[in-house]
Amino acid sequence: MSTAYIELKDVYLSYPVASGSSIQALAGLDLRVGRGDFVCLVGPSGCGKSSLLRLLAGFFQPSGGSLLIDGKPTDGPDSSRGMVFQQAELYPWLTVFENVEFGPKMRGAEAALRRVEVERCLRLVRLWEFKDAYPYELSGGMQQRAAIARVLANDCELLLMDEPFGALDALTREHLQEELLSLWRQTGKTIIFVTHSVEEAVYLGTDVLVMTDRPGTISTRFHSPFSRVGGSDLSRSIKALPEFVRLREEVLACIWTNNAG
Ligand code: ADP
Ligand code: MG
Repeated sequence: MSTAYIELKDVYLSYPVASGSSIQALAGLDLRVGRGDFVCLVGPSGCGKSSLLRLLAGFFQPSGGSLLIDGKPTDGPDSSRGMVFQQAELYPWLTVFENVEFGPKMRGAEAALRRVEVERCLRLVRLWEFKDAYPYELSGGMQQRAAIARVLANDCELLLMDEPFGALDALTREHLQEELLSLWRQTGKTIIFVTHSVEEAVYLGTDVLVMTDRPGTISTRFHSPFSRVGGSDLSRSIKALPEFVRLREEVLACIWTNNAG
């Protein structure tokens, strides 16, 4: 078997709290992710999904177990791993162009190279025409696309997305699902994507991982074929396929069973 791009073995994470004790967020978590996989994480609120992303981003170190990315332990965040949150968190005083340019600029990239890179990323998310707009002039969906472009401009290998479409209306969400899939197919990046929507997980993910209640661990892994076969005009028909509906119900049933005990 080839080595995994991401490998977590028996990982624990606890947060110290004011009383002097601690909250165990993750316990005994094992995870293997291959390069180019699109992994969706689902599970009840508070089960540790964001905590897992923060570990992968390098914001925290595990309290126990081992976490390897590309065969190496992480020692803090770096530009190879980009995080996208539910709220786009763009700099309000910078234009779309300047927001996306910010990372490469901080890393000392030359102006001419930055321009090429920013244009490439903004075109990927179809925002080039809005490069001179300020965040407040954009819709929620456009802000989210700008946030994705900003992460791409750092040339990250791993995209960590924490409910990125959670605050968007249904139609915008469907559009962004298509765009993210197309971006994933074009770039081959590895994506770890947290969502509350089981339908979204089954539609986007090559793998859907169900987490148990806190302390979180991964209870079940489902393989989903749909992200590899879709095309933008197929979206609605895929979600209505009997195989799709069956898998969606299976994942839902798994979440319910985990929480019934
Ligand atoms: P999810 O994203 O699945 O909703 P989180 O990873 O945010 O879950 O949280 C998992 C558990 O850890 C929750 O019980 C939460 O209250 C707790 N937690 C998260 N962050 C912190 C923190 N910085 N300090 C203390 N407890 C935290
Ligand atoms: Mg969360």
